[in-house]
Amino acid sequence: MIENDTIKRILYVDLSRRRFWVEEDEDLFKSYLGGAGVAIQLLHKECPKGIDPFSPDNPAIFTVGQFNAIFPIASKMVAMFKSPLTGNLGESHGGGRSAIAMRMAGYGALVIKGKSETPVYIAIHDDDVHFRDASVLWGMSSSYTVGRIIREQEPGSGIRTIMRIGRAGEQLVSYACLITETYRHFGRMGLGAVLGSKKVKAIVISGKRSFKFKDQKLYRQTYKEIFKSLVESPLMKKYHELGTSMNINPLNERKVLPTKNLKDNHFDLADEISGEAFAVNYLGRRVACSHCPVSCIHIAALREPYESEPYFYKTNMISYDYELIYSLGSMLGVGSSRGLLKLMDEVEIQGLDAISTGVALAWATEMKERGYLSEKETFGLNLKWGDYENYIKAIKLIVEQPNDFFRFLAKGVIQASSKYGGTEFALAFGGNEMPGYHTGPIAYVGFITGARHSHLDSAGYSFDQKFKAAGKNLVPQEIANSLIAEEKWRQILSSLVICFFARKVYTPEIVSKAYLVLEYDLVYDDLLKIGEKILKSKYDFKTREGFRFDELKIPHRIFELETLFGKISKDVVKRSIKKFKDEIENL
Ligand code: SF4
Repeated sequence: MIENDTIKRILYVDLSRRRFWVEEDEDLFKSYLGGAGVAIQLLHKECPKGIDPFSPDNPAIFTVGQFNAIFPIASKMVAMFKSPLTGNLGESHGGGRSAIAMRMAGYGALVIKGKSETPVYIAIHDDDVHFRDASVLWGMSSSYTVGRIIREQEPGSGIRTIMRIGRAGEQLVSYACLITETYRHFGRMGLGAVLGSKKVKAIVISGKRSFKFKDQKLYRQTYKEIFKSLVESPLMKKYHELGTSMNINPLNERKVLPTKNLKDNHFDLADEISGEAFAVNYLGRRVACSHCPVSCIHIAALREPYESEPYFYKTNMISYDYELIYSLGSMLGVGSSRGLLKLMDEVEIQGLDAISTGVALAWATEMKERGYLSEKETFGLNLKWGDYENYIKAIKLIVEQPNDFFRFLAKGVIQASSKYGGTEFALAFGGNEMPGYHTGPIAYVGFITGARHSHLDSAGYSFDQKFKAAGKNLVPQEIANSLIAEEKWRQILSSLVICFFARKVYTPEIVSKAYLVLEYDLVYDDLLKIGEKILKSKYDFKTREGFRFDELKIPHRIFELETLFGKISKDVVKRSIKKFKDEIENL
């Protein structure tokens, strides 16, 4: 670790007593690097066993890694907590300026405990911590406005992060997100609701520290090497040009794009909502997380006329990417690009996770279509595929929860289907609504076994495509081994904390070399051992909180449609889960 590195400082904030203090733990950051590695250790320590996710004792833990603010595209921050959506390990990653601001403020971790009696926002500027009254911000209808007000109140313009929740977090929607700056999110697993339960409307962080390296020349060389491969790599170019929405057309052509609650694997209107269509018709600008030369965040400019005045328009800037187009587009049968942008905007205004929202509404639409729900449950809405105006109203109702049905829908599709039926087509895995890949069995084995049940866990969808291209057989042991090997390395990347889009640039060799700048001698084997330890800690926590591989439920719907490998074999999925379990137990 470089001399005087402040990464070892952990800032504790106790909302109940309005106190804060700093503890130093150099060993923790030496053994677990930072990010996910440190967060899971702190979660074990700070989160009491069996706690209700909305208990004041459920901590919201934010961590950064040793590469943040030092090397390019180490631009993410990790959050860990007990998830209100799954009732188990909650892990969410966010970018924007969050990681760089926290590192420059001089902390490796922030642990928020307790609950405030009245709404607050926490402002951290270097060593100063303030509990600011947020009563006027609480209940504000748009998350954009909250950001704008805080921007004017707080110092640190240009170097600060402003992370805030929307109405969804205040209303404890189990899949409410935390928005960082504008257009970036700690999207998954309900971090927004955990902060809402603590009456925290926002967290602002800024800092002005700097770093000194013993071997400045090695730092410059290594930095240059990473930077060069980021800007020259063909892999990163595609993120800059079309962004992740480039996936829509190829996945649709291969018939693996989940459509209308996965009643179909192909969307006839995909062309209208493809990355190409958005780029040509709407792309307003591209932005980047701090310290990232790639700039993959695509922002659409949607020009809308005022109702009462001719030739008057307002322009809404709306960020889009693959997962949003899948979950609020093809999954809901929405083929109007304008309509889809309006849906995305409403999700952002309310502060919801777009994937969970889309999948929950897709399940509700199928329930309505089958006649399992009346308009009494849907509060008068006639949910129909493609009807984005009704979906916008439904999103507001998920947040407002005016009746039992929307109260259950606000808890996620598993809770809603266990009350109203339709579990066989409720598309969640381990309690978390599915991402947009119906590529084959490996994707689903990844969703269901992953530590946090997300496509970011182990890239199963990419193994489906690789296995298919290589003409490989679906051997359960090989499936389990591939997912676990990927997962071990991902623990390192998410401890540093590198954006996963750059996982091919941050090879083990580059990581080891960059560590030399930080005065560590860590080769691939050392790193893998650390990755393995972190992975094991995650499953230990999950098991502690009731997770059992043998009790995992798989919605029948995924077996009904063709994938890259034809219809998915239940037997292959079950045997792969069993092999995965054996491997995890042997760690
Ligand atoms: S590639 Fe995109 S998501 Fe990743 S750090 Fe850069 S701008 Fe952020």
